[in-house]
Amino acid sequence: MRLTHDVRLAARTTLKLGGTALAEVVVSSAEELPRLPEVLYGLGGRPLVMGYGSNVLARDGALPLVLVRLEPAGEPVILGHENDAVRLAVPAGLRLPGLLAFCARHGLSGLESLAGIPGTVGGALAMNAGSYGVSFCERLLAAELWTPEKGVVRLAAGAWGCGYRFFRPAGVSGWYLALSVELGLVAAAPEAVRTQLRETYEKKKRSQPILEATAGCVFKNPPGESAGRLLEQAGFKGRRLGGMGFSERHANFLVNHGGGTAAEALTLLDEARLAVAERCGLNLALEVEVVG
Ligand SMILES: Cc1cc2nc3c(=O)[nH]c(=O)nc-3n(C[C@H](O)[C@H](O)[C@H](O)COP(=O)(O)OP(=O)(O)OC[C@H]3O[C@@H](n4cnc5c(N)ncnc54)[C@H](O)[C@@H]3O)c2cc1C
Repeated sequence: MRLTHDVRLAARTTLKLGGTALAEVVVSSAEELPRLPEVLYGLGGRPLVMGYGSNVLARDGALPLVLVRLEPAGEPVILGHENDAVRLAVPAGLRLPGLLAFCARHGLSGLESLAGIPGTVGGALAMNAGSYGVSFCERLLAAELWTPEKGVVRLAAGAWGCGYRFFRPAGVSGWYLALSVELGLVAAAPEAVRTQLRETYEKKKRSQPILEATAGCVFKNPPGESAGRLLEQAGFKGRRLGGMGFSERHANFLVNHGGGTAAEALTLLDEARLAVAERCGLNLALEVEVVG
């Protein structure tokens, strides 16, 4: 277990802003987990599981948080084939782009629509990440989690609830650390998977600021509506405050143009929410997680 004191959230999040957490604990193997509660108790503060920090808006200043991260993980393992169905075990610390590259190499289809999402597999599970009508948990067959109360827990299919940007493991009330998942994918020609990944990525690059400092979409889409369209209609596309601004390319992405602060980001989010509520009576819910 690697312990670092005073860790800057700006260095741990794709929005590149936020203050300083008390500490960060990086777990590199399951054998270290039994010691984790004692280590966290000794450090004080609130534990916050962090993946790649691509859905996190961290507040400014001194934050009473202890980040818990998994050491970046190795390769997925193919567990078995049944006709075209392939069962794949994936460590939660692996980045989604790494998983998709593995799928392209081995001809495994089912996750191509998630190209361009920068997070980890653990973050994709916890957020039920999705795009273009496909969500991560649709492919989920089983998950292994660790909780401070129960230790390592294996969840079989059905032992969770999931939906638009949420995943709730049954019987887990507090926080958990996802360790690995098993996914059900479909055998396909590697070239077809690669083409689909490339096309999805290019499509996103044309319509979203995926190479800038963002946390993806900041608001969830209300049922049957697009948060981006509502923000654009309310005049927020390109709206700036200090170093922060809603993207010119896609109004639902908040961009750190350099030197942006959480205070600026939160003010912009409040103003946008109020304007959309006044204009069309809809309350936008945050997709990005505000921490600190
Ligand atoms: C350019 C860009 C494009 C994006 N596009 C999309 C998109 O198309 N669709 C989409 O859904 N999202 C998108 N996102 C948002 C983000 O990438 C996803 O939500 C992603 O799944 C978050 O993964 P992460 O590892 O970064 O999680 P983090 O941001 O680090 O954490 C997010 C949540 O997951 C929890 N978590 C992370 N790892 C674990 C773990 N191992 N165990 C338990 N909990 C964990 C955290 O506690 C936190 O609650 C985008 C973000 C960016 C920057």
